[in-house]
Amino acid sequence: MPTMRTADRYVRSLRELELVLYVDGERVADPTTHPRVRPAINAVAATYALAHDPRHRELATAHSDLVRAPVNRFTHLFTQPQDLVRKLELQRVLGRLTGTCFQRCVGMDGINALFVATWEAGGDAHARFVAWLEQVQRSDDVINGAMTDPKGDRSKRPGEQPEQYLRVVERRPEGVVLRGAKIHQTGAANAHQILVMPGMAMRPGEEDFAIAAALPVDAPGVTMVLGRQPSDERKGGPDAGNARYSGQEVVVLFDDVFVPWERVFLDGQLGPCATLLETFAGYHRASYGGCKPGNLDVLIGAASLLTRLHGVERASHVRDKLVEMAHLTETVHGLGLGASSKSTQHGSGVWQVDPVLANVCKHNVTRLPYEIVRLAEDLAGGLMATMPSLADLRHPVIGEALRTVVGSDERALALRLVESMSYGAGSVPLRIECMHGAGSPQAQRIVLERAVDWEAKVRAARRLAGLPPREGEPIEDRRVDAEIDDAGQ
Ligand SMILES: Cc1cc2nc3c(=O)[nH]c(=O)nc-3n(C[C@H](O)[C@H](O)[C@H](O)COP(=O)(O)OP(=O)(O)OC[C@H]3O[C@@H](n4cnc5c(N)ncnc54)[C@H](O)[C@@H]3O)c2cc1C
Repeated sequence: MPTMRTADRYVRSLRELELVLYVDGERVADPTTHPRVRPAINAVAATYALAHDPRHRELATAHSDLVRAPVNRFTHLFTQPQDLVRKLELQRVLGRLTGTCFQRCVGMDGINALFVATWEAGGDAHARFVAWLEQVQRSDDVINGAMTDPKGDRSKRPGEQPEQYLRVVERRPEGVVLRGAKIHQTGAANAHQILVMPGMAMRPGEEDFAIAAALPVDAPGVTMVLGRQPSDERKGGPDAGNARYSGQEVVVLFDDVFVPWERVFLDGQLGPCATLLETFAGYHRASYGGCKPGNLDVLIGAASLLTRLHGVERASHVRDKLVEMAHLTETVHGLGLGASSKSTQHGSGVWQVDPVLANVCKHNVTRLPYEIVRLAEDLAGGLMATMPSLADLRHPVIGEALRTVVGSDERALALRLVESMSYGAGSVPLRIECMHGAGSPQAQRIVLERAVDWEAKVRAARRLAGLPPREGEPIEDRRVDAEIDDAGQ
């Protein structure tokens, strides 16, 4: 019977790892106490805390048929249609609780996509994957979903610049050797395992780049380097805006890392790798309809609080701007829920989101939060960008005079929160995550062009315009027309 980790056991478990992590040019001995890392660990820890919180336990856990016990939802397969909806609801709760990225969604969506892909691959790939997943559910590990390769010159194929992609450089009787890198790795330094997956559809001849495998974060040859954000030096302090929680992005370098065969799930199978990409993109693009509305709840709350502190909360344009922020946030959440509700069951047993709505959801996430941030910046006023530090405001000599003109701690802290979540200064800038996380806007438009049923639309238009059916065209709707024409005759 697996026991789900608590937040405390999670943080302690990170100390047992021999992670090679660099921050600002220095090797970090204990990430759990490092001021640049700890807030991101806290955000992940919230995913553990909720699994033991009576208010959220039902949402944050699920029954696993694999290990026949409750598991943390972040290690769970979407075996029931409501699992997809519950995922979105949990993401919103966590997004609101932490105000940032809580870093476990890529792994969860990757697990489910790989379950589908290995099932399609046949052979013993699926059995190997399921054996690993059982271990993950029992240990309640954080899985870093590692897809994105550096890619270098985007006009070149991987074979023309292999150093820009993670690849198999050697196949031994006991396993494979990996070389290369993955970039933009959310929460990698707070994870227990890395799940590497190809970041694009590979073509014949590119089999060495079509690799999906799991390895410990501290496997020999793995080096992590923390991303640097504009407001990092404020992390954890009063000027952070959100001092307790933050997201995290990491570059992961693989210098001839050995992975045993039992942890290699796909190796050169191009079809299943394409399935993996498509399935993951659907899950993850819907996920943005859960976490981002939760984050935006916090931004709306901070903007609303400031309008009250400024005494403008009754002004009609102010109320209208807050309504607009809420309307845009719920639009994104509704699209995520729609994609998750309109699900279908894959042959493997796992439920899949509606690909059109999932991509429309993420596409709106690349736009609507920008407008929400603009409105927050409008309502907050210019002080969010020009205010002295909290140390100045609390200074024994200048503090009182400053507080008279700048305002109370309450106002200053609310301004810092809006600042950190808006114009790009946050620990991981919200807007940039909305733009590129789960794929840049064009990636969604490419899927939409492919997934939209254009012929059904043309058929509907031709029929209602009074045009005859084309050869071989389904004519069920025309039968309905005829039935209606005959009705009452
Ligand atoms: C905050 C954040 C968190 C992330 N988390 C993760 C994670 O946990 N795991 C993970 O694997 N990845 C993660 N990503 C990566 C994310 O999926 C990528 O950023 C995204 O796919 C875009 O890739 P890119 O950043 O290399 O930008 P690019 O692909 O370079 O895109 C930049 C622009 O170039 C265009 N472009 C790119 N290629 C071509 C081409 N061949 N032809 C024409 N135009 C092109 C794009 O459409 C876009 O307009 C994260 C990213 C961010 C910003």
